[in-house]
Amino acid sequence: MKPAAIGAFFATLQAANPHPETELVYASTFELLVAVLLSAQATDVGVNKATRRLFALAPTPQRMLDLGEAGLVDCIKTIGLFRSKARHLMQTCRILVDQHGGRVPQERASLEALPGVGRKTANVVLNVAFGEPTMAVDTHIFRVSNRTGLAPGKNPLEVEQGLLKRIPAPYRLHAHHWLILHGRYVCQARRPLCDQCQVRAHCDLGRDA
Ligand code: SF4
Repeated sequence: MKPAAIGAFFATLQAANPHPETELVYASTFELLVAVLLSAQATDVGVNKATRRLFALAPTPQRMLDLGEAGLVDCIKTIGLFRSKARHLMQTCRILVDQHGGRVPQERASLEALPGVGRKTANVVLNVAFGEPTMAVDTHIFRVSNRTGLAPGKNPLEVEQGLLKRIPAPYRLHAHHWLILHGRYVCQARRPLCDQCQVRAHCDLGRDA
């Protein structure tokens, strides 16, 4: 995709949705971290169902520790990989309480040092909670970036670096939400809805189809 097309691609997505937001429900940076950690290989809808009860019982790292791993498992047992996620979450809460005064750190290295928190989760927290123009490459962003020619890459890190280099600065803060929502609802994995796509004129695949 040529630079002019990239600008037009994001201008179109921005005009349709000027303030894109995550579909995960949360009321604090800690709850956001928990929701993102739980969302690996799970849908946002499924995570929101589980966290509604969990966050009422344990809205802080200390309250999560007080709830205990068995109580946590009981709240999240409908989510994939719930046992390992519960174990990681308890370890993460212990570190937040002991090393960060019960707060979620703003530094990438400290975030990635938390059990269960990888580069993608850290990127989401840095972007959504702390307003940094990071690019959390999930399955939707990986697919859309390759399919459209926006930032082709063989793995998530290559795509992340390509996106950060190619997306014009004014669009970088919200780009990851625009791309996730576009991939989830329009540029879908099995059957992209090119006929209904607002950015078709700028997309390498759709333009030539
Ligand atoms: S035109 Fe098709 S392939 Fe291109 S972004 Fe739109 S839905 Fe995806």
